[in-house]
Amino acid sequence: MFQKILIANRGEIALRVLRACKELGIQTVVVHSTADADAMHVRLADESVCIGPPPSRDSYLNVHQIVAACEITGADAVHPGYGFLSENAKFADILAAHNITFIGPSGDHIRVMGDKIEAKRTAKRLGIPVVPGSEGAISDEKEARRVAAEIGYPVIIKASAGGGGRGMKVARNEADLDVALATAKSEAGAAFGDDAVYIEKYLEKPRHIEIQVFGDGMGSGIHLGERDCSLQRRHQKVWEEANSPALNAEERARIGNICANAVAGLGYSGAGTIEFLYEDGEFYFIEMNTRLQVEHPVTEAITGIDLVHEQIRVASGGGLSVRQEDIRFHGHAIECRINAEDPRTFAPSPGTITHFHTPGGLGIRVDSGVYSGYRIPPYYDSLIGKLIVHGRNRVECMMRLRRALDEFVVDGIKTTLPLFRDLVGNPDIANGDYDIHWLEKYLAAPSD
Ligand code: ADP
Repeated sequence: MFQKILIANRGEIALRVLRACKELGIQTVVVHSTADADAMHVRLADESVCIGPPPSRDSYLNVHQIVAACEITGADAVHPGYGFLSENAKFADILAAHNITFIGPSGDHIRVMGDKIEAKRTAKRLGIPVVPGSEGAISDEKEARRVAAEIGYPVIIKASAGGGGRGMKVARNEADLDVALATAKSEAGAAFGDDAVYIEKYLEKPRHIEIQVFGDGMGSGIHLGERDCSLQRRHQKVWEEANSPALNAEERARIGNICANAVAGLGYSGAGTIEFLYEDGEFYFIEMNTRLQVEHPVTEAITGIDLVHEQIRVASGGGLSVRQEDIRFHGHAIECRINAEDPRTFAPSPGTITHFHTPGGLGIRVDSGVYSGYRIPPYYDSLIGKLIVHGRNRVECMMRLRRALDEFVVDGIKTTLPLFRDLVGNPDIANGDYDIHWLEKYLAAPSD
């Protein structure tokens, strides 16, 4: 087992990883920018190293400073959290070259899944169902027209290097196609430095359902069920739940086993998420994330398994603590992402939190790095905390969520808490009757 882990992240996820390390008796080092000197993860860690000024590229993305911090403190492993360097294959390679363990998959696996065309090809080879579309990158308009006619309109043009919901264009008919292709290509080139794009069928009313997987690094893989992340705004997840209100146990086992086998076939090591769109009873692979996800706590709530413990065990060569047949799904869990944003316009709302009171009681978990008197720096993302609620079934979970939202107090800044108070009372949400477009339509509708 590791002696000392360096946590290369900030905010709630740095604290989340720190807690797992403490439970396992592992020393912790955190790195931070000058803007985060007062952050909770810095206060609670055994050691901390300031690695640079506020902008991420000079601090949390500064590979040389992070490697130097490992060497100064004698850390033998790095947990990257999510975002920042978590899906940076070069970072994984550099750590390996320094004999420091990257808590995550190999650089090669990150590279394959980071290129969406390559990822889709690999998924297909491993027996995962994919969205019908082009075999690889689209070279010109003629080819685009041929593929689109074959799969049928509407189609979506996506950047191979895309991420964060950027670089996607929908074409509803052939007249739209040339413009969509040209815009997608130029946007992808400008945003990612790679203008390779591919085409796939645009699904009109899918749900976003993702499978949590783990590879033990020794040729075996397991799945921990699904999360339904269909409630999105601008392709960003807002509310996540497990299990999905749309799946039954057989469908869960079927897609879960396909994913577990794929992970085993890849020889994958560590946590991963295989994302699908789900429509009319069919799953369509869209991408694989080779890291811990923001919404991992809903899976922890219904399985009772600490995913960060498992990541650390696997990275240290100790394998997984559970086998597929040991995994049981208990009850229902929902996560609300609480952002420092105006709940109507979603404009960021940095500033000082004058009062912070979190709900408690049975089935409530709050993962947050903030506290009363904390000043939210304007340089990073706006997530200030996650409320995760567990109940014996979805109805109990929703009742408990409503109560927890009433108890939650964040003063001094605007947050998205009022949005969740609205959602929890909505009949479609109560019925689990929503797709990936539901939230955008709800937000666009005039309020009464
Ligand atoms: P990113 O890596 O940028 O997040 P994804 O491929 O994961 O890109 O897609 C993000 C979101 O875009 C999906 O959750 C879904 O809302 C939408 N999307 C992607 N592909 C399709 C498709 N073929 N049909 C309909 N919507 C899609």
